[in-house]
Amino acid sequence: MTDKKADSSPEDRHQQKMAKHKAKVDAAIERAQEERGVVIVLTGNGKGKSSSGFGTVIRTLGHGFNAGIVQFIKGTWECGETNILSKLDNLEHEVMGSGFTWETQDKQRDQDAFDEVWPKAKAMLQNENLRTVMFDEITYMLAYKNLKWEDLKEALDNRPKDQNVILTGRGAPSALREYADTVTDMKMEKHAFRGGVKAQAGIEW
Ligand code: ATP
Ligand code: MG
Repeated sequence: MTDKKADSSPEDRHQQKMAKHKAKVDAAIERAQEERGVVIVLTGNGKGKSSSGFGTVIRTLGHGFNAGIVQFIKGTWECGETNILSKLDNLEHEVMGSGFTWETQDKQRDQDAFDEVWPKAKAMLQNENLRTVMFDEITYMLAYKNLKWEDLKEALDNRPKDQNVILTGRGAPSALREYADTVTDMKMEKHAFRGGVKAQAGIEW
């Protein structure tokens, strides 16, 4: 009796495995032929949502496209990415006025700030020149009912066909997850802050 495995060398077996893998990848590439913008949701409790969104906006800008960013929660710190990006001509950048934070605890003030920035955000979703639009921390606007899902959905439905939209923030609601083309749920395995390390410029903001 011949042992088939013994006949083939490790190199042969590796080559066969890779050929099988390549066939699978090629078939998947063949299937994905639709050309249109996508909705990307970056959610979950782990670190990396906003920074991934900014990274993707940089990709867009790096190819010479225009992009837009709206930051719905400014926090108390300036943010390293926007210090650089806001200098670029091909980026539109808006920050929600009063700086919605956990500290304000003033519902009407937050709603007024949202109502002021939302038309500008919506205008980005109507702007054919913006290849990618990022709404950073938008999930909190849904969670605190400053923004209705139906209104966000309508704006997303009516955006230009080639426009990509990145939506970040913890606790993305299930309707948004279902609607999106790509959803990444960042899982928190560890975070330095919980180990007592102070938040630092260049890493946290
Ligand atoms: P980043 O901006 O670093 O990509 P993020 O957008 O995923 O983080 P947010 O929920 O927006 O995270 O939190 C903003 C700030 O809180 C950042 O400074 C981030 O480093 C920090 N942070 C994120 N996840 C955690 C966590 N699990 N525990 C403590 N701090 C966190
Ligand atoms: Mg964030």
